[in-house]
Amino acid sequence: MDLRFTEEEVGFRAEVRAFVRASLPSRVRQKMIAGSSLGKDDVVQWQRILNKRGWATPAWPKAHGGPGWTAVQRYIFLDELHQAPAPEPLSFNVNMIGPVLYTFGTEEQKRRFLPRIANLDDWWCQGFSEPGAGSDGQKTWQGMGHHADWMFTLVRTASSEKPQAGISMLLIDMKTPGVTVRPIITIDGRHEVNEVFLDDVRVPVEQRVGAENAGWDITKFLLGNERTGIARIGMSKHLVRRAKSLAATLTDGETTLADNPRFREQAAAIEIELRALEITQMRVLDSMKESSDKPDPRSSILKVKGTELRQRASELLLDVAGPLAAPFRDDFDDGDEPLAGSTAASAVAATYFNLRAASIYGGSNEIQKNILAKGVLGL
Ligand SMILES: Cc1cc2nc3c(=O)[nH]c(=O)nc-3n(C[C@H](O)[C@H](O)[C@H](O)COP(=O)(O)OP(=O)(O)OC[C@H]3O[C@@H](n4cnc5c(N)ncnc54)[C@H](O)[C@@H]3O)c2cc1C
Repeated sequence: MDLRFTEEEVGFRAEVRAFVRASLPSRVRQKMIAGSSLGKDDVVQWQRILNKRGWATPAWPKAHGGPGWTAVQRYIFLDELHQAPAPEPLSFNVNMIGPVLYTFGTEEQKRRFLPRIANLDDWWCQGFSEPGAGSDGQKTWQGMGHHADWMFTLVRTASSEKPQAGISMLLIDMKTPGVTVRPIITIDGRHEVNEVFLDDVRVPVEQRVGAENAGWDITKFLLGNERTGIARIGMSKHLVRRAKSLAATLTDGETTLADNPRFREQAAAIEIELRALEITQMRVLDSMKESSDKPDPRSSILKVKGTELRQRASELLLDVAGPLAAPFRDDFDDGDEPLAGSTAASAVAATYFNLRAASIYGGSNEIQKNILAKGVLGL
């Protein structure tokens, strides 16, 4: 197994880095550095810049308008975005509903939706979770549902003994009469998630994906895609870098906090684990070279370890910021003081709290451990 990048892959990384450096709007860059929330316009603008370059849909095959990249190129692309730091293309659109439609959708659905998904002309949200399974009428935790034009939704269309059977996938226009979106404000003070109520909503049959009652197979396909490349090592590296640069500006008695042995030990411990995870990531990518589209069950290790390390890195940053994190200010108007390298640390606490959820969404870490027990350890 060769765990080094080829010359072409190194060249590809340089190409991505140069493009992101030259093309990411500075307003978006400042918000990303500060860890503050992005507005809808920020996400849409960046995705359209990527789409113009042909890079908004990294995992899509050429036949459907994607770049036709290998798994390694996809990894390098995302890693460069995370380290820049720049936003990822909207996952609900490009990792979830897009691949579902080009795999299971009708020709009409592909023609109608795929180009708009890539260009973020339609913003999609995921209507899977319910407050009690089978409540049929209420969905919950819809990330960015308040921005959404469409929701891909699981609904029960037949009762059956097996809970997975009798589920269908519907595409629901959020403007349909009977759809109500209600905000959930989380502990970080942000509005990211929502409840969605569906009261007697009527959906035309051409907005069903796949056959009636066959929604579970499509869902398994979608969740597998959601998980690949989820380690987000570049994001953790960025958080550690922020902790270090903030520590260099703060004094601890005679010296700066950056020279404090306890801080250095904690930062080094995270960096060593990130390096080890990077090697695991390379192993998983190597196994995907043969069959780029089939998720390796070991990608669950990346999800578990990747989210644990991101949480630890955000905790280190919070520790360094100390009382500076207290103002708890998240949103910045254009023209506000950017936070890079300064002692201001206002979005730090929000980031710390926000990342508590990373081990829950995208398949909770406990469920990933079940997948590992079965698929890797053969238990
Ligand atoms: C910030 C955030 C954003 C989200 N965004 C979306 C979204 O956009 N769309 C959407 O549809 N959903 C979304 N979700 C929902 C998310 O997918 C679920 O919360 C997650 O899958 C866990 O499901 P649950 O909440 O029903 O917990 P449960 O399934 O009730 O689990 C509760 C606990 O038990 C554990 N557990 C459950 N089953 C097992 C098992 N078999 N073995 C071992 N442990 C188990 C779980 O890991 C968890 O710790 C979001 C959630 C959060 C927090």
